[in-house]
Amino acid sequence: MKPLLIIANLKSNKTLSEAKDWLDEISNLKSQVSSLTNKEIIVCPSFIYLSIFKSFISEHGLPIRLGAQNISRFSQGPYTGEVNGLQIKDFADYVIVGHSERRGTFGEDESVVEEKIKMSIDYNLIPIFCVQNDSDKIPQEVSIVAYEPIFAIGTGSADTPENADNVAKKIREKADVDYVLYGGSVTVENVKSFTSMENINGVLVGNSSLDPLEFLKIIENA
Ligand code: PEP
Repeated sequence: MKPLLIIANLKSNKTLSEAKDWLDEISNLKSQVSSLTNKEIIVCPSFIYLSIFKSFISEHGLPIRLGAQNISRFSQGPYTGEVNGLQIKDFADYVIVGHSERRGTFGEDESVVEEKIKMSIDYNLIPIFCVQNDSDKIPQEVSIVAYEPIFAIGTGSADTPENADNVAKKIREKADVDYVLYGGSVTVENVKSFTSMENINGVLVGNSSLDPLEFLKIIENA
């Protein structure tokens, strides 16, 4: 059976000391979560903390994999401020691509998103591809899709599990993907209603992952 993917997207949050406190709490993962069987935990911190997270996870033997929140559409070179796939690969296995905040606030259109998917694959990073509905184009290389409706992102107003399941089903019908996740105002209380759906294989969690205790409960309840 496929594991459930439970992903924390910490976005542009946390100072260095807050990030360290977050890790300290998460180090209780094995004692706080009754069973991690069939659950894969992926954490996506800011780029600047990937190195610290990687060392901490390895020192504490935590069953957590890392993801980046973004990837440059360029390889190495004169691209001030960019972080490329080769650099990310030293720290992470996954990368979020197509998030609605990147599409909206940073104007990433379909061609940029496609270039970023290509870069991820070129550098052996697994893209977590975010779509806002079942009509969004899904590049062929994508194996993990996160359905994240705009109205649910950071609003406290999640989609219904039934609708999310229906969208996930349609995504599966049109694209040959391994995982369809749900993201958008996932909480300790509602996580199970999504992960128990037939076509949903996990969750992408924003706000509720910022508090490590809450994120641990989400993992427990998923
Ligand atoms: C997200 O931005 O990917 C997300 C799921 O955010 P939130 O959980 O805060 O809605």
